[in-house]
Amino acid sequence: MISSKIGKLLINEGLIDEKQLKEALDSQKITNEKLGSILIKKDYVGEKEFYITLSKQLKIPFIELDSCHIESHVIEILNKKFVTKNLVMPFYKGDTFLKVLMEDPLDINLLDFMKNTTGLDIDVYIGTKSHILCQIEKYYDTSFKEELIHELEKRNKGEESFSTIHINGTSIGTFFNFLVKKAVQMKSSDIHIEPKKRNFIIRFRINGELKRVENLPKSVYDALIQHIKYMCQLDLAEKRVPQDGRYEINTGGNNIDIRISTIPTVYGEKVVFRLLNRDEFIKTKEELGLDKKSLLVYKNMIKRNSGIILISGPTGSGKTTTLYSIIKELDFKNKNITTIEDPVEYKIEHINQMEVNDKIGMTFESGLKALLRQDPDVIMIGEIRNRDTAKIAFKASITGHLVLSTIHTKNTFSTILRLKDMGVDSYLIANGLIGVIAQRLVKEICPKCRITYKNKSFLVGSIKKLYKGMGCDYCNNTGYKGRRGVYEIMPIDNNMKKLINGKFSLDKIKNYAVENGMRTLEKTGLNLLQKGIITLDDFMSLYYSIK
Ligand SMILES: [Zn+2]
Repeated sequence: MISSKIGKLLINEGLIDEKQLKEALDSQKITNEKLGSILIKKDYVGEKEFYITLSKQLKIPFIELDSCHIESHVIEILNKKFVTKNLVMPFYKGDTFLKVLMEDPLDINLLDFMKNTTGLDIDVYIGTKSHILCQIEKYYDTSFKEELIHELEKRNKGEESFSTIHINGTSIGTFFNFLVKKAVQMKSSDIHIEPKKRNFIIRFRINGELKRVENLPKSVYDALIQHIKYMCQLDLAEKRVPQDGRYEINTGGNNIDIRISTIPTVYGEKVVFRLLNRDEFIKTKEELGLDKKSLLVYKNMIKRNSGIILISGPTGSGKTTTLYSIIKELDFKNKNITTIEDPVEYKIEHINQMEVNDKIGMTFESGLKALLRQDPDVIMIGEIRNRDTAKIAFKASITGHLVLSTIHTKNTFSTILRLKDMGVDSYLIANGLIGVIAQRLVKEICPKCRITYKNKSFLVGSIKKLYKGMGCDYCNNTGYKGRRGVYEIMPIDNNMKKLINGKFSLDKIKNYAVENGMRTLEKTGLNLLQKGIITLDDFMSLYYSIK
């Protein structure tokens, strides 16, 4: 009965036709397979479409677990053999219930069995077969972790080099790779490994916030740190002074650059990895998230052959991504593109990248002077931090070079003031500067658990309704789905040049830019708040970062 009901529903939804249904029902009589499997196999209906329709019919929610993190104590409730055989995936445990994703939520025997063995009520959700298998692979891979801990605790430390330890084909290296893979899957930017008195914890930074993901015994810590230091070619014996290094890894088809730094703490070395997903780090100009008008201004700015473009914003505002995105748009075949960075965050083929090294006297200034003798077309300077760098950069910009750099200022127009304070002459600013891009990253509310509430804040009195995320499986209970860039772009035209060269007034510059169509960071933020894309809290932190 269920079969024909689903069949009719699929027809009603326009997903299959009568003929296809009859054909499938006929072959079902012979093979005794499930109608869904037959239809999917014959390619009459997409797998996801089928399960969504099934979900409607049965009034059981359809979900995907991609961006949620399932805790290990939940995974351990059902073993790998059982979940693989029955195509089920536990993903959340309450006091008296267990949420389970199932391919066939009508399997009463299976439901009873799970209820009896776990002693929990089973809360059922529908998922596609391939999604469940994918989740099983993602989470049940980890059983080696327990074996590893067990084995390491048994061993007498120091008898053997840790990085060569193998347990059932699993090495500490595999555990490390697993850790990185998990961090990448969860879209984290950093991994923190922090020793405590008796154990150590591992935390991931996701959407700007630290989340604890593991708590492991000290025995694993020693092995892990040794392995990491070995891979990054750090001094294994040195534990008393900070060290830093880098390392490249490929996981799940992603090329990840890892920058590592260690500091000695009272309980041992604390290690932080900065992960850079090379494939996600570089964005095309379309992917930056600029609105139509800003994109046009941006395109015109990067077309120029000489002058300077500055990206402004605090640390962690995505400046470097924008900088590299511009570089990637340039014609590297016919141009000499050279960078000086501290450090090189991302290696790009066909361009020349230099790294600052204060220890040996390779500073931004000395590097810049040297590269100007190298017949450059485009010069990228990681950051303008002082007067000397600023002066060289601006001189280069008016002598036929395209210069790109970042600067630590609050917004576009205050950058002009900062440059003047640094001692750059007004005429150099006016004639060299092509434009300033100020930017921030803001957290986007999770669309799956977003709720509205009445605005009581007088600070944004014109807005009636506000939004926030309550936290759900989809967003890993954070209430956010990720981050996006917010931009303020100020191009320098002839009138602006006059304003910069004349009697200086910050207000005049700002007003002129706004009259000419510049959307301020504040305005864009307010717009996102109104549309329910960001929360009031996040708007306020954006607001205060500008003031
Ligand atoms: Zn959510």
